[in-house]
Amino acid sequence: MKEIVPEPPPLVRNDVAATQALFQKYVVPSYGRFDIVLTHGSGSYVYDVTGKRYLDLGGGIAVSSLGHSHPALTEALVEQSRKLVHVSNYYYHEPQGRLAQALVSLLGPGKCFFCNSGVEANEGLFKLARKFGHDEGRFEILTTLHSFHGRTLAGIAATGQEKVKKGFEPMVPGFRQVAYNDLAAMRAAISPATAAILVEGVQGEGGVTPASPEYLLGLRQLCDEKKILLLMDGVQDGHFRTGRFQSFQRILEDSMTAARQNGSGEFLPDAVSMAKSLGGGFPIGAFWIRAPYADVLSAGSHGTTFGGSPLGCTVALKILDVIQREKLAQNAQNTGERLQQGLLKLAQKYPTILHTVRGLGLMLGLELAPNIASLPGDSTKTQAVRMANLFHKAGLLSIPAGTQILRFLPPLNLRPSEADEGLQIIEGVVSGLAR
Ligand code: PLP
Repeated sequence: MKEIVPEPPPLVRNDVAATQALFQKYVVPSYGRFDIVLTHGSGSYVYDVTGKRYLDLGGGIAVSSLGHSHPALTEALVEQSRKLVHVSNYYYHEPQGRLAQALVSLLGPGKCFFCNSGVEANEGLFKLARKFGHDEGRFEILTTLHSFHGRTLAGIAATGQEKVKKGFEPMVPGFRQVAYNDLAAMRAAISPATAAILVEGVQGEGGVTPASPEYLLGLRQLCDEKKILLLMDGVQDGHFRTGRFQSFQRILEDSMTAARQNGSGEFLPDAVSMAKSLGGGFPIGAFWIRAPYADVLSAGSHGTTFGGSPLGCTVALKILDVIQREKLAQNAQNTGERLQQGLLKLAQKYPTILHTVRGLGLMLGLELAPNIASLPGDSTKTQAVRMANLFHKAGLLSIPAGTQILRFLPPLNLRPSEADEGLQIIEGVVSGLAR
């Protein structure tokens, strides 16, 4: 299924301390980083400067959709960069039009705007909501507790986590958070100023919590009734990660089939933000707007210099092509199921270390048991970070979420044998702690 990738290049230097010193001196210390200096990757593996190999089940936080150094992606970058890397949005070019067409065909009738990151895609949704409600004096956007929508001022105002807001007050006005998966709370929160609701289909940073089908269907009804927009943040859970293009398509699989059969119309949000896996590591974001609202952001109302460049769009088109050709949506579903079942077995076998597993497809969260006495490491660090460190030692990358959860967001072309290898590594660590 996966194309054969070339062997990684030989190591040139083994200089952890020198690289870290550069960061300490010259890079803004806004990230908590692990003590790993990476040099190159190949498929589902990355290598550090000491030559150590890691199975990358973190996938660059759901970005490396085709893994590392995929030849099709490299070729698309090289070929397109020979023709045209960038032109301004004063002009037309084919790749942007074709990518918009492809995304529309995966979502539904509407139009797309291209940007460079997830938070910018969400910013576009916020502007859409404001413009939509403007003439009636409606501007408020309701979001959910434990959500994550990015790190700009509007992004942190939208995000339902106090830790991202701290120190940056006052918040951009017009955002309020209510409990996730709680339709009654959302209904009660709607005010005459509300213009839109924004939710993730599966909360990622919040700990990998999927929305229930009833919640999504209920939100659609509520938004129709109150004439407000239903916006979905598909930045982390989108792009086939859950086994369908968007997580709502997976969560509502059964009700969509029923809707198709009885002709009652399928669920569609009014807009969806995208980024991360869309470019497989090349920075590109996008948002799709459903047809009735697709012209709300009229000429002059929104823009960005780099958005939808020929290079970015060509790469994104190539990724879509590989996903379709190699049936990676099905792989995300099947290999994700295999990984989830394996993790569940481990949680049952080692209940003093692992509490539970949740998620969909290749978006999984492993919740640790509270207060693991045998967990080594700096006790001022969260359990999730200390466990991630142990996984690193054992040769596996995962992504901490909150204090207790490790996320697995690997390439969509993760092989079943690689999922099994990951499970073996995890069991090796966990059984050592359970002894
Ligand atoms: N929305 C969600 C659901 C995310 O998970 C993220 C990033 O983790 C963002 C938005 C922000 O994306 P970016 O970091 O590309 O700005």
